[in-house]
Amino acid sequence: MSLTPFRPQAPILVTRPFLPPLEESTAMLAEIWESRRLSNAGPLHQQLESALAEYLGVPYVCLFANGTLALLTALQALRLNGEVITTPYSFVATTHALWWNNIKPVFVDIEPDYCQLDPERIESAITPQTTALLPVHVYGYPAPVAAYQTIADHYGLALIYDAAHAFGVRQQGISVLTHGDLSILSFHATKVFNTFEGGAIICHDQRTKTRIDFLKNFGFSGEIRVVAPGINAKMNEFQAGLGLLQLKHLDAALAARRTLAARYRELLGDIPGISCLHPAEDLDYNEAYFPIFVDAARYGKSRDDLYDHLKSYNYFCRRYFYPLIASFNSYRDLPSASAENLPIAFAKAEQVICLPIYPDLEVEHVENIAAIVRNFARG
Ligand SMILES: *Cc1c(COP(=O)(O)O)cnc(C)c1O
Repeated sequence: MSLTPFRPQAPILVTRPFLPPLEESTAMLAEIWESRRLSNAGPLHQQLESALAEYLGVPYVCLFANGTLALLTALQALRLNGEVITTPYSFVATTHALWWNNIKPVFVDIEPDYCQLDPERIESAITPQTTALLPVHVYGYPAPVAAYQTIADHYGLALIYDAAHAFGVRQQGISVLTHGDLSILSFHATKVFNTFEGGAIICHDQRTKTRIDFLKNFGFSGEIRVVAPGINAKMNEFQAGLGLLQLKHLDAALAARRTLAARYRELLGDIPGISCLHPAEDLDYNEAYFPIFVDAARYGKSRDDLYDHLKSYNYFCRRYFYPLIASFNSYRDLPSASAENLPIAFAKAEQVICLPIYPDLEVEHVENIAAIVRNFARG
């Protein structure tokens, strides 16, 4: 491709929230105004829980006001304490959820292929205080679930997935959300499926669902009975109604993402020093993000040079996940947060740029971005 890059008039951001047609949402609002059910497991909440269970292919869904509250509550639901092993290469909420539960985060490095918590390095980080593993399906690519489960079973640890990126991802036809004890989803505006703000816990049995549903509603199990010190983490009826509308358009949104991602891979594939991730054959991937990794020595420019260069063309990419969680003030003094303990995570954080991808991004922008990346090399 010898396209001459252009600079779009309006800035293009890394993502743009997906919304259903406005008319559809006014009909939904009329329904809420009529019913006066605004929260507390109203009809739309119930409908969205069943619709999501079916769409995702999972047994039980517990809806939440946001993904962070879902994470906090998941850790409470399993009564975890002590130390939990997690990845430094994620959005900061993953580790914050441990902190808010008075749990000590223990960082373990990632593997270099898909940036997932490395199962080979977990065992040496386990201590008598370890109670659980908290991996992330980073960028929505499935983490090595079988290896984690073997370790969790052997050491008697709980296994909770931060699956905030993994909405709708299936491997060999099976949802990645069916693994471990619990999985957490985020329906934040920037995620593949959004309810403005929102989230969920996926669990495997009715007993656990009931406990989680109590916990997210102050611990109430009836009008005057409180069975646990719960929190208010309920999803409201507006969020649930919006989720039902979003779901109708989701397959089209995912298809659009796949078309754009395929074009990126096609156009970026042969640029020396630029690499991207490729979904395996048996994976129904959601193309939640489009990370590329810049090998400065081979590309001839640094990651930050390219990031700034794209900005000068009005393309506002994001360096997910830089800085590493282990670099933030709150965590950097932990023994496991050192660069020596996390060489791969630190290296990836220095290389990554997430390029714009969202369902209504025009393919011309993908082609233009690829041309900008190509022309900038060594130039
Ligand atoms: C978005 C995100 C969260 C937080 O979800 P919110 O709904 O924004 O609270 C947690 N973990 C990861 C990995 C995320 O990307």
